[in-house]
Amino acid sequence: MTAPDSTRPSDFIRDIIAEDLKTNKYDGRVHTRFPPEPNGYLHIGHAKSICLNFGIAKDFKGLCNLRFDDTNPTKEEVEYVESIKKDVRWLGFDWEDRLFYASDYFEQMYQYAVQIIKMGKAYVCDLSADEIREYRGTLIEPGKDSPYRNRSVEENLDLFERMRAGEFPDGSRTLRAKIDMKSGNINMRDPVMYRILHAEHHRTGSKWYIYPMYDYAHCISDSIEKITHSICTLEFEDHRPLYDWFLDELNIYHPQQIEFARLNLSYTVLSKRKLIELVEQRYVTGWDDPRMPTIAGLRKRGYTPESIRNFCERIGAAKRDSIVDMALLEYCIREDLNKRVPRVMAVLRPLKVIIVNYPENKAEELDAINNPEDPSMGMRKVPFSRVLYIERDDFREDPPKQFFRLAPGREVRLRYGYYVKCVNVVKDEQTGKIVELHCTYDPKTRGGDSPDGRKVKATLHWVSAPHALEAEVRLYDHLFLKADLNDVEEGKDFKSNINPNSLEVLRSCYIEPSLTGAAAGSRYQFERMGYFCVDPDSSDKKPVFNRTVTLRDTWAKIEKTLIK
Ligand code: ATP
Ligand code: MG
Repeated sequence: MTAPDSTRPSDFIRDIIAEDLKTNKYDGRVHTRFPPEPNGYLHIGHAKSICLNFGIAKDFKGLCNLRFDDTNPTKEEVEYVESIKKDVRWLGFDWEDRLFYASDYFEQMYQYAVQIIKMGKAYVCDLSADEIREYRGTLIEPGKDSPYRNRSVEENLDLFERMRAGEFPDGSRTLRAKIDMKSGNINMRDPVMYRILHAEHHRTGSKWYIYPMYDYAHCISDSIEKITHSICTLEFEDHRPLYDWFLDELNIYHPQQIEFARLNLSYTVLSKRKLIELVEQRYVTGWDDPRMPTIAGLRKRGYTPESIRNFCERIGAAKRDSIVDMALLEYCIREDLNKRVPRVMAVLRPLKVIIVNYPENKAEELDAINNPEDPSMGMRKVPFSRVLYIERDDFREDPPKQFFRLAPGREVRLRYGYYVKCVNVVKDEQTGKIVELHCTYDPKTRGGDSPDGRKVKATLHWVSAPHALEAEVRLYDHLFLKADLNDVEEGKDFKSNINPNSLEVLRSCYIEPSLTGAAAGSRYQFERMGYFCVDPDSSDKKPVFNRTVTLRDTWAKIEKTLIK
């Protein structure tokens, strides 16, 4: 028996597995699988399932398969298969040689279905989809038997074979399990096992005219792969009796299905159907739009695989549905990036500053620390000159009481630079808008310390105008205005809650020159502004940065309380 990794907190699923190992239920094996349907890109909810399945396999020294549940040819695409493989790998997991497709088992599934027919436990039904629904009954009313329920085994075998041969049109017949139309569990009321579909499949081409339904295909795929623990989300709890019925009737290897609560995240949706709508109706630029909760979107936004794995570990696995606060995901990425990305200076909303007592043609190189959290990340030089940019928000002509940054007559520190004092405010005569500030600097404060012990209350970031790199910066906010999107008003679509300001593009930002040529995907902290990463749209001429997440801006908080 193998003990689970002791550094990880246990959860009820790991407890069950540890117990099964104790009783030697599966000869000491642990074998899980991640079974995505290739009908969309993976999202952060899938990451939870991936971390659970691959994580459990790792902790118990077992195996985890990647299996595409590709039983629905009309909605599935090769693009999705490729994106899913890429995302699972990027998250840091490896299926080794165990990449499978449910479609690999179509022949075996067919043979098992024939076996169930021969046992008199399945029949070909000619009811239409609507009629099947009508006959099924409701939660409070029992269903009615189909008039085709008592077809002979011979007739069923003949019809099923002809369904396979493509003799009948789509929707004209189904194969149904013969269980119990009066069962309290609607899933057991003679569920459909096969439907007729004359559709091209991305792997089997036009070989099949019938396709197995999810409930039938899933348990058989698990059985064929000798999965020990088939972990799925809570909505499949009511399907478990059917899962068990198929495997027991066939008397084949039987995994144990265990259900856990799916992840819901505030301010976003985690349903492929809804995410497809956002992509197709162009509410976002694509599956990898940095506002999307997809793995591809989070990657482009600047999330690291470590931060996502850490998030999944923190939320754990439980039996009860809940909504996890997006702030927790943001906390996880901040915590990761804080330790390992370099800090640089970038001005997003520039205000020009002229240091009037600094020589015109002089420039000097100042020493800057790359990450105070990690001295091994070293130092770099930042250029200083007479013309600088500071953040427009860091100056107030008429500063409120608790505003300690630059104001007329006030002295502040420029990070790694000098103390500067505002001596003049230049405005556009027509609009009254502030166009530049004139400041003096104190040459004795080089490096940011005053030899006479003079104190200043604020330290600002800045960049030297003639040296700076001009860049585009994209600021992202929640895609939705509402935290709980299950709570959308009656009759309204979830899209009625889209945040119209989820993207703000700043086209003239100035970044210190050490970022020249930074590769797509590189991550930085822009001091005081947040964490950013280089977008793949970036070019040498025009670097583009995505804001991954803000730092917590304490002034914004103070100002909010002042307004209240
Ligand atoms: P969606 O509702 O987004 O279409 P799905 O369940 O149909 O999701 P699948 O491709 O079938 O998507 O999911 C693959 C695996 O990921 C399944 O085991 C499923 O239970 C799990 N999964 C999907 N969404 C979540 C979620 N929000 N939280 C946890 N696990 C999830
Ligand atoms: Mg599914």
